[in-house]
Amino acid sequence: MLLSNRINAIEESATLAMAAKAREFKNKGVDVISLSLGEPDFKTPQHICDAAKKAIDDGKYFAYPPVPGYQDLREAIAAKYQKENGVPYKAENIVVSNGAKQSIANVMLAILNPGDEVIIFSPFWVSYDALVRLTEAKPVLVKGTMENDFKVTATQVEQAITSKTKAIIFSSPCNPTGSVFSRKELEAISAVVLKHPGLLVIADEIYEHINFTGDQTSMASLPGMFERTITVNGFAKGFAMTGWRVGYIAAPKWIADGSNKVQGQITSANCSISQRGALAAITGDLTPTKKMVEEYRKRRELVYHLLKEIPGVKANYPQGAFYFFPDVSSYFGKSDGTTILKNSDDLCLWMLEKGHVSLVPGGAFGDDRCVRLSYAASEKDLTEALRRMKEILATLK
Ligand code: GLU
Repeated sequence: MLLSNRINAIEESATLAMAAKAREFKNKGVDVISLSLGEPDFKTPQHICDAAKKAIDDGKYFAYPPVPGYQDLREAIAAKYQKENGVPYKAENIVVSNGAKQSIANVMLAILNPGDEVIIFSPFWVSYDALVRLTEAKPVLVKGTMENDFKVTATQVEQAITSKTKAIIFSSPCNPTGSVFSRKELEAISAVVLKHPGLLVIADEIYEHINFTGDQTSMASLPGMFERTITVNGFAKGFAMTGWRVGYIAAPKWIADGSNKVQGQITSANCSISQRGALAAITGDLTPTKKMVEEYRKRRELVYHLLKEIPGVKANYPQGAFYFFPDVSSYFGKSDGTTILKNSDDLCLWMLEKGHVSLVPGGAFGDDRCVRLSYAASEKDLTEALRRMKEILATLK
């Protein structure tokens, strides 16, 4: 009752809520296969762990780090963007935070005023919408369709822009759909953005390594877009470092400075030891990352074929990240004799309770017809989970 209107206006994170529910079932001894959390099932590569251990033993990294991150890590991130993504960032453009989620929160607090509008490409990652609402700005959802691989077009963006639009946010590769915007598609969107002075783009590239297309274009690398783009990235997905909590933004200096100010008041800085691990990751050998990506590629094939065998499920073929976002709405209105499944929430809860597979309801990502399935799990678990899904869905009448 006494919570703020801002907190009352947002939901609990659906990804974390479903993961917690799956954990509850597991703790009770139920053999649940959790495909809810977008979390690599691989261990952090050894050279990264070794660097963090060495940092502890060196005894030099026990004090507060600089608010935006250690200078050498920020320089390494800037160098990576110059070399691999063709964006001339310098250390002054980088702010390292506690995961990409905090990076996005910092940016939103730094750039949004109440009443500003933020265009969110939908389906969207659950926290975009919540973070916009926390700042009392207004999320404007622009929907991609499965026919267009869930991708929003430049024309749709143009139609959604008003005098209040402050920013656009999307992820590519996309969580939850796995879609990847090609260079051509991003160029078309950037042409629309550049017609509107002051309009910013928050380009979430957290899945950049897990891109099966070979075309990973950074919005900030396109002509005129350096000054308009906030690039979000981090170490969790590409280096299997979810628990280390290291994300970052790369942005024009005034936005980096604004984010830095927010961070200085909220967390002081990101964990010192995690940053030393992150430095080893970004300057080190990418072989472990490439191996993980090859595993994800195989799993994508496996899950795609198994999903196709389930009657009434429609799935697109994702081009990156490690998610499927199948349409399961043909099962809505059906019953197992006691429960009628009305929507994606009902279906996911029922699937967890009766089928012992945990998924995330699509409603939280902006499309209630769908559910999100993370294939960051072993082939054995994926095969068994899809078998269970097929079997239990067949019992619905
Ligand atoms: N980004 C991951 C996911 O979507 C981790 C959970 C979260 O932070 O939402 O599952």
